[in-house]
Amino acid sequence: MIDVEELTVRYGAATALDGVSLSVGRGEMVALIGPNGAGKSTLVNTLCGLLKPAAGRVSVSGRLALVPEGRHLFAPLTVDENLRLGAWRGRDRDTSPVYRLLPSLEPLRHRRAGRLSGGEQQMVALGRALMSRPEVLVIDEMSLGLAPLVVAGLADHLRERNATEGLAVLLIEQNARLALDLCTRAYVLEAGRVTASGTSAALAGSD
Ligand code: ADP
Ligand code: ADP
Repeated sequence: MIDVEELTVRYGAATALDGVSLSVGRGEMVALIGPNGAGKSTLVNTLCGLLKPAAGRVSVSGRLALVPEGRHLFAPLTVDENLRLGAWRGRDRDTSPVYRLLPSLEPLRHRRAGRLSGGEQQMVALGRALMSRPEVLVIDEMSLGLAPLVVAGLADHLRERNATEGLAVLLIEQNARLALDLCTRAYVLEAGRVTASGTSAALAGSD
């Protein structure tokens, strides 16, 4: 679903990604783990077409949706209104399938997004991404600022979507434990390079 080959991205003279290769297959859950400044956001922005590669290539097949870092909800709008903004090209704005998938959102549907807790907002951001019925989801820093129990709930939802619909996920995380627990494979990104990759079991063992 996602193929990144020998990707190099620069900001002026500074190289943010240096020959990065990674892939996410159909129905796979893959993690990209790295500290601040590793180049994770640069990769996300390149996947979304906001940045151009200096070298290498990026290809995405199937519908991709992004759950952005920081959630980026419209604070004055309700949960339901925020969900409808996720409809593919503004079509099919029926939100009921998302409430079926994420039942904890239903009682919040008329609340303003800006008034919700961080965990609730993250759930709305996930729901908005699911509105476009994606085949692959890129999730940028899902766990940032959230309580472990909330993160575990989000992880359960992703496992369920993966198991029942074959939703593929690229999980971009600083939290290595969460990433290795949820995903079957992982890449470690440091200073713009992939410094380790393999199954989560192998990477967890090599800590
Ligand atoms: P991460 O998301 O892993 O924290 P980033 O992709 O934001 O990392 O940043 C990777 C590198 O590129 C860092 O050295 C950062 O300082 C640099 N960088 C990011 N955005 C810009 C920009 N707009 N202009 C110049 N340098 C940038
Ligand atoms: P075009 O206008 O370029 O011919 P469309 O906009 O009709 O193409 O559709 C582009 C893709 O988006 C198709 O794969 C279609 O199945 C999908 N699509 C269209 N509407 C929706 C929707 N409401 N929800 C999800 N996918 C949609």
